[in-house]
Amino acid sequence: MQVFDHPEFDHHQQIVFGSDEASGLRAIIAIHDTRRGPALGGLRIFPYASEAEALTDVLRLSRGMTYKSALADLPLGGGKAVIIADPRRDKSPGMLRAMGRLVDSLGGRYITAEDSGTSEADMRHVNEATRHVSGLGRSPGDSGDPSPCTAHGVYCALQSAIRHALGREDMEGLRVALQGVGHVGAHLARQLHAAGARLVLTDIDRDALGMLAEELGAATMPPEEIFDAEVDVFAPCAMGAVLTSGVAQRLKARVVCGAANNQLATPDVADQLHARGILYTPDYVANAGGVIEVEYQRHDDYSRQAVMAHVERVTDTLDEIFERARASGDSPAGIADQLAKERLARS
Ligand code: NAD
Repeated sequence: MQVFDHPEFDHHQQIVFGSDEASGLRAIIAIHDTRRGPALGGLRIFPYASEAEALTDVLRLSRGMTYKSALADLPLGGGKAVIIADPRRDKSPGMLRAMGRLVDSLGGRYITAEDSGTSEADMRHVNEATRHVSGLGRSPGDSGDPSPCTAHGVYCALQSAIRHALGREDMEGLRVALQGVGHVGAHLARQLHAAGARLVLTDIDRDALGMLAEELGAATMPPEEIFDAEVDVFAPCAMGAVLTSGVAQRLKARVVCGAANNQLATPDVADQLHARGILYTPDYVANAGGVIEVEYQRHDDYSRQAVMAHVERVTDTLDEIFERARASGDSPAGIADQLAKERLARS
């Protein structure tokens, strides 16, 4: 297996492979960059088909966290952890404690949190072996769930995107197709509805979809047809790699802005969207609300008001990105990477 010559290797500072025979733990932690602060990023548990696939994921995701935190102006670097296991079958308190010991061995250079395949309850087991965990909630009854902050950040990102692409200042009558009404998508749908947007929702979970559509009086579409919706905005809030070349050609929307991580199936799709006059909102800028919340939770002087004020600064960051994109003719995705690198170079 290649590491230093891996296509996703991007001068990562440290890559740690850890195992625990008793619990069956097989994990990789990737620390991409700590110039701005400790590397914070979630712990993903997924039944990867191979170690190579797990390595690819952790390298890509950890680099994404560096860029996300840099553009969110957080004193954090980028890291991520993966466990090769089926979260429904293999996960156990023993495995999570073993993961905690691995995290602890890094002495705080890496801070873990929830991600797909892990819950707040899992993080409590990790926390038995290390204090370098965030997203646990601040008090009993507080779930620590960052999704409402993520959704608010996407909403603020959309304010900037529609101003730049459509010359609009408000959401009244804005037609939005929203893919995925899970933790983030449902919060976002409610906020858009309250602002007067007209929603078309989709999800593979028909029950969740039906309930939210009824609550908001929103239209629904089958998952495979959502890309053809006659809307102003496509908001991907389900899974990654949703923006393929085919989807880029099909979209009727003039703006893409959503919460999903790694929306572009391949980097060149950003250029295809750009060529079609579709404004793509760089995903790691739009969805930074969650990491902002998780960072603030680490400190004793936590204030929800301060978190939300910080989240709302995503609008300014995107204004700068969209302005630079307009002036240079480059895609916003390329400009976002450039801006992140500039900020890192200054740290
Ligand atoms: P979630 O699992 O709660 O919701 C995802 C929803 O998408 C589910 O309802 C699922 O049924 C639906 N879905 C899956 N495949 C689909 C498909 N093909 N078509 C339509 N719907 C489909 O996840 P979440 O926490 O809401 O996160 C959504 C996305 O945002 C993920 O990509 C996640 O990585 C990203 N993200 C989340 C946060 C956060 O704070 N939760 C932060 C940053 C990024």
